[in-house]
Amino acid sequence: MLDAEFFRRWMTATAAAVDREAERLTELDSPIGDADHGSNLRRGFTAVAAALEKDPPDTPGAVLTLAGRQLISTVGGASGPLYGTLLRRTGKELGEAAEVSEAQFADALRAGVDAVAKLGGAVPGDKTMVDALEPAVAELATSFRAAAEAAARGAEATVPLIARKGRASYLGERSAGHQDPGATSTALLFAALAEAAGD
Ligand code: ADP
Ligand code: MG
Ligand code: MG
Repeated sequence: MLDAEFFRRWMTATAAAVDREAERLTELDSPIGDADHGSNLRRGFTAVAAALEKDPPDTPGAVLTLAGRQLISTVGGASGPLYGTLLRRTGKELGEAAEVSEAQFADALRAGVDAVAKLGGAVPGDKTMVDALEPAVAELATSFRAAAEAAARGAEATVPLIARKGRASYLGERSAGHQDPGATSTALLFAALAEAAGD
């Protein structure tokens, strides 16, 4: 069973990974975006970690809804509302239970990913975070490690794609040949999940 402490560990590990990789994320956002993805997420997850430390929620659902709210209110870029929706929706699905099973978490995250796809209108192949989110959530029933590896593969697979959503889509065919920054940060999110699980 997964408790609030597990979900706080996940968010803290994500904040550390985003902080460590912020420059790389911003570099990826330079040729096909506006060079702010790393700083956007660093600001957002720093706020998430601070909020969780200040007033630690005691249910998994409350941890994720608080994290999602922080991302939405502190990140100006497209990624804020998208990751915010992912975590808020997943948290809402988990309800008020003190502990959730891995299967319940996988179902909740599926609803979260669906909410992201609905909000952003992206489908797999559009060269967005959805290209890493979809394979990760599909592998979650196997293991957290498998989900993290699927997310990393999904991010790498965005390189040859032509962007159809987000800023990169303004470049049309010139967006090909670059890895999507949001899919790359999604791989960090799932690597942090495997880390939190000790997987
Ligand atoms: P902005 O583009 O507003 O500067 P960020 O740089 O923080 O925001 O985030 C860019 C990332 O957001 C992209 O790499 C992509 O993965 C993701 N993204 C952008 N638009 C969409 C969308 N409509 N659906 C899904 N993901 C999107
Ligand atoms: Mg950007
Ligand atoms: Mg921006």
